[in-house]
Amino acid sequence: MSRLVVLAGPTAVGKGTLLRAVVDRDPNVWVSVSATTRSARPGERNGHDYHFVSDTEFDDLVSSDGLLEWATVHGKHRYGTPRGPVEQALAAGKPAVLEIDLDGVRQVKKTMPDALFVFVMPPSWDELVTRLEGRGTEDASERERRLATAREELAAVDEFDVTVVNDDLDTAVEELERIIAGAR
Ligand code: 5GP
Repeated sequence: MSRLVVLAGPTAVGKGTLLRAVVDRDPNVWVSVSATTRSARPGERNGHDYHFVSDTEFDDLVSSDGLLEWATVHGKHRYGTPRGPVEQALAAGKPAVLEIDLDGVRQVKKTMPDALFVFVMPPSWDELVTRLEGRGTEDASERERRLATAREELAAVDEFDVTVVNDDLDTAVEELERIIAGAR
């Protein structure tokens, strides 16, 4: 069995970019694909970025205990971690990573307290706002909603085992790679 790594951090901090870079460097790292009720953004692939599911399908996953954790994120859509693939990856001894929100982190802390909880921090609040505006995938009201969640998430940094500041990308990638490798 390997030790699960749970990654969280505020919107637009670059969790996805960091994780993709880690997997590029070490294809052995397994990253969970979440189920979500939000619709796909341009370029996102079903089964690769997310399992895009209907509300009914999500209800079925919840009622059949098919999710390790789930939450309504940014007050809008539901996201959850399919349980089976995580258990299989851990049983196979693979370095396994979840990228989830703070609600999900708190659930996994209860069910899998031995997991390693990693928080990705922006170099500053202003930089976070700039990154969110810069990626241009959310309108103003959605950005506001995400920044409100981000404030709560940043206040919860003490609940995590390790912090990675995503300032210089290469440095942060190396740091995260070391953390994931060390968790095995
Ligand atoms: P986005 O809509 O930008 O892809 O994701 C929004 C947020 O949803 C992410 O920052 C991530 O923290 C959270 N999220 C993604 N998948 C899951 C999941 O399976 N469970 C939980 N609890 N949160 C998730």
